Amino acid sequence: MAKKKNCKYIFVVGGVISGVGKGVTSSSIGLILKNRGLSVTSIKIDPYINVDAGTMNPTEHGEVFVLNDGNETDQDMGNYERFLGIDLTRLNYMTTGLVYQTVIEKERNLEYKGKCVEVVPHIPLEVMGRIKEAGKRADADVVIIEIGGTVGEYQNMLFLEAARMMKIEYPKDVIFVMVSYLPTPSKVGEMKTKPTQNAVRTLNASGIQPDILIARGETSLDEKRKEKISLFCNILSGRVISAPDMHSIYDIPINFEKEKLSDKLCDILGVTCRKPDKKAWNSWKKFAKLAHDSKDIVKIAMIGKYFETGDFILSDSYLSVIEAIKYSAYVQNRKPIFTWLNSVDFEKSPEKLKGLKKYDGIVVPGGFGSRGVEGIINSVKFARENKIPYFGLCYGMQLLVIEYARNVLKIKDANTREVNPGSKNIVIDVMESQKEHLKKSSYGGSMRLGGYKALLRDGTIARRAYSKKEIIERHRHRYEVNPAFIADLEAKGLIFSGRSPEGHLMEIAELPKEKHPFFLGTQFHPEFLARPLSPHPLFTAFIKACINKKKR
Ligand code: GLN
Repeated sequence: MAKKKNCKYIFVVGGVISGVGKGVTSSSIGLILKNRGLSVTSIKIDPYINVDAGTMNPTEHGEVFVLNDGNETDQDMGNYERFLGIDLTRLNYMTTGLVYQTVIEKERNLEYKGKCVEVVPHIPLEVMGRIKEAGKRADADVVIIEIGGTVGEYQNMLFLEAARMMKIEYPKDVIFVMVSYLPTPSKVGEMKTKPTQNAVRTLNASGIQPDILIARGETSLDEKRKEKISLFCNILSGRVISAPDMHSIYDIPINFEKEKLSDKLCDILGVTCRKPDKKAWNSWKKFAKLAHDSKDIVKIAMIGKYFETGDFILSDSYLSVIEAIKYSAYVQNRKPIFTWLNSVDFEKSPEKLKGLKKYDGIVVPGGFGSRGVEGIINSVKFARENKIPYFGLCYGMQLLVIEYARNVLKIKDANTREVNPGSKNIVIDVMESQKEHLKKSSYGGSMRLGGYKALLRDGTIARRAYSKKEIIERHRHRYEVNPAFIADLEAKGLIFSGRSPEGHLMEIAELPKEKHPFFLGTQFHPEFLARPLSPHPLFTAFIKACINKKKR
């Protein structure tokens, strides 16, 4: 057997400001390299102390993306999976908290053999060990490591130190890509390079020299400024890449290839790669074109509560849901228009519910706690009675069941234990396996998490959408449909079309097509498995129902 070549490592770091698209840049680099026949895996490093992203409010940090193995991670992991079309694992994600926790555990287990354990080098060494392990397990030719935050911050210093040490260990196999921002002040009208020059210098102070600079800005970077950056930042001129704002994030890899980025990366890394895979590339381009060309709209109301941050609307809390809807809309030549509705409004002013009629479909994504819940239940009722397509994800499914119990089974105080533990009719109850965690207040990483099998019932909307009997979907919840109510709910027409293989956990609830065009909820989160080139079947069925409503 031929000896496997050394694994290559690409560190991606950010300069000047956050939010310039390091995640999408890393994902796009992965995609263009994969398209050259290389096997790629990606790692996200988050500098916070939280051991994982699971304990954070989405308005703090955006969506919590759940991996197949149940790890609760940053939303960038979703971008990697979607762009690369792969499943990542807990090895692909780390935080400061996780790294310290591991080092301290090892110390307690005498794994450092009596040495004094210090922040440097032991923390960077642990980081390096994790990066190498992730590459090895994925049998990767290239590992892309995105270091969260911006250079110059205190928080990510030890990760930069790890990157620097990797370069010393594997001088030929480690390269650095810096994603930086070039502002165009409106009064000046010219793209300015100075902040980027300073950011590169700051990175230099950590002992790191970027090999490639991705110049993010509102517009393209001209030759003159490319030369300037090249000269002042010590980067070969062909390696300053113009990355203007694009119509959609799916255009970014296409722009990179216009700049011949995969050639350049392979060249610096010293890897031989094949010519771009035309077929795969064309499918990507076709998908990106659909995102441009789909003109007919489909209007989706998203009802939840994690939208507002100060005066801004933060759609990031539901990033995967939005992406999943887009993919399923684009394949049907539709452009989704999202409206964010705060469920609390439907409690304060129930007359606002009538406004829901103008939407082609309603989505209630996952959520926790009691705020806004009554408003959601009111809107589920409205969707059911007015035959507006309704898709409930996790909490959205549990609240569908509660609405049905209250208004069809006439159990007026039906509720979830999460909201009203005192109710006599706990239709959604805490899972047996969760009781102990709640008692001990052990909340981190303890929900029912990750991929679990479910079986679908023949003749249902779900079964037809998936066109298979057995599915695996990702979960993140503590509560479930209380088995005591299942028979009554089904007797009154609600169908549990998906169940766990043993049959006791309700995974999908729906009304038959004759009663409602699409009234369905899933205990799992289908959005985590939607991919640009393979949209999720349930989202596709939902959008189809929305398009039909429009025609009605
Ligand atoms: N709060 C509910 C539960 O824990 C739903 C969770 C979710 O929507 N992800 O079961």
